[in-house]
Amino acid sequence: MVERKYKWRRADYQENTRGLLIVHTGNGKGKTTCALGLMMRAAGQDLRCCMIQFMKSRKDRYGEHLSAEKLGIEVHTMGDGFTWDTKNPEQDRQTARHTWDLCVEKLRSGEYDLLVFDELVYVLSYNLLAVDEVLADIRAARERQPSIHIVVTGRDAPKELIDAADLVTEMTEIKHPFQAGIRAQKGIEF
Ligand code: ATP
Ligand code: MG
Repeated sequence: MVERKYKWRRADYQENTRGLLIVHTGNGKGKTTCALGLMMRAAGQDLRCCMIQFMKSRKDRYGEHLSAEKLGIEVHTMGDGFTWDTKNPEQDRQTARHTWDLCVEKLRSGEYDLLVFDELVYVLSYNLLAVDEVLADIRAARERQPSIHIVVTGRDAPKELIDAADLVTEMTEIKHPFQAGIRAQKGIEF
């Protein structure tokens, strides 16, 4: 059992915390894993964390889902049971809408200190959700709860999102094992 050095009060934390809008973008590997690392750090400080994944479906049991359960971190995938079907743009729009509705519910709840919207950029790039609407919802949440940290991931983040963010990191591909024919591996990719 790890002993905590000090106890803290949520009201003090919220008063002294400047919530950040964080973006992980770029074509290199590490956007989602970096967000997971951040949640692991935050959960260790007893911050209340939740990740909503736009690209992964519920039936996939990634390593991060198993670890999150152990650490008490909440993870949701694409509105449970919805899948992307590129042949059916209307269905994709509904999936994006359903998943964003869940994000908005979490944003409005006031029950989280750190929210991660993994691959939200994907649905923005494909115009399945309007960037203006997403940014308006994020802005409103930050006004209501100025201490909330929000992380958005995905390659090709739009300029509007980058402009609105406080912290933007671009992962750049220098080498990826995929180029050498090495497929996705347990514990590294899933
Ligand atoms: P990770 O989830 O491993 O942190 P990521 O979030 O940065 O990766 P995504 O764009 O979400 O990257 O793509 C997810 C998958 O694509 C991962 O399996 C990852 O290894 C793979 N991938 C990421 N970058 C590259 C790349 N430059 N070339 C080939 N595959 C890649
Ligand atoms: Mg990712």
